[in-house]
Amino acid sequence: MIKETYLGVDVCCVNESSILDEIDNIIERRLPSFIVAINPEKIMKAQKDINLLKLLNSATIQIPDGIGVIIASRLKGGKIRKRVTGIDLMQSICKRSAKNGYKIFLLGAKPGVAEQAGKILEDKYKGLKIVGIRDGYFKEDETIIKDIKKASPDILFVAMGSPKQEYWIKNNMDKLSVPLCMGIGGSLDVICGNIKRAPKWMCSLGLEWLYRLIKEPWRFKRMLVLPVFLIKILKGR
Ligand code: UDP
Repeated sequence: MIKETYLGVDVCCVNESSILDEIDNIIERRLPSFIVAINPEKIMKAQKDINLLKLLNSATIQIPDGIGVIIASRLKGGKIRKRVTGIDLMQSICKRSAKNGYKIFLLGAKPGVAEQAGKILEDKYKGLKIVGIRDGYFKEDETIIKDIKKASPDILFVAMGSPKQEYWIKNNMDKLSVPLCMGIGGSLDVICGNIKRAPKWMCSLGLEWLYRLIKEPWRFKRMLVLPVFLIKILKGR
């Protein structure tokens, strides 16, 4: 898999269909693997946290999730031209899982959210097997790990926010015997309709950040990260 590196963080030059083919391969060979979504916020956090940087780079597939990564690739003469968002990829994985019989475990979000999201997904992707569900507010890892092992899923989606979910996956994946783990942030809330996504036209123009800024103005500070990231990329030319 070809990777480009921005401020020390790897990002795969991939499209959704090649990731889905790779997932078939991962599940067939049952190699413990994990997918992480990369955006400027995570890259900037990793500048101050070497362990996070190592963790992001240790993932099997780093998807180009944020528009800032696409702009950075253009500025640096890279080849990444299209976003692969975590939520879209997650749902495409569910579609592929319904077709190929892969079993899914949902871990994360507030009590009740993953159940509701699971029902919506099973309704949308007929034949989808969701073999386990747990909310993301637990104290002990051990019981969760036991539950996951017992359910024996092929894919574990972890929705506990970043970088918490990535650390959780990295610290526990060797104990889980699950071929594929993926951090999905707030995707279960979006699927349930608790959080609204930007309209399609805004997403395709790369303006999802503007929509979130209008809807959640208190995220303003978090969003300042995008121009800071791009300035750093330009300075590094
Ligand atoms: N969450 C969780 N356990 C925690 C903290 C957060 O399950 O200890 C869930 C929270 O309920 C929400 C998601 O993690 O569903 C975080 O979503 P957010 O949009 O903040 O994710 P990010 O922007 O970091 O991808």
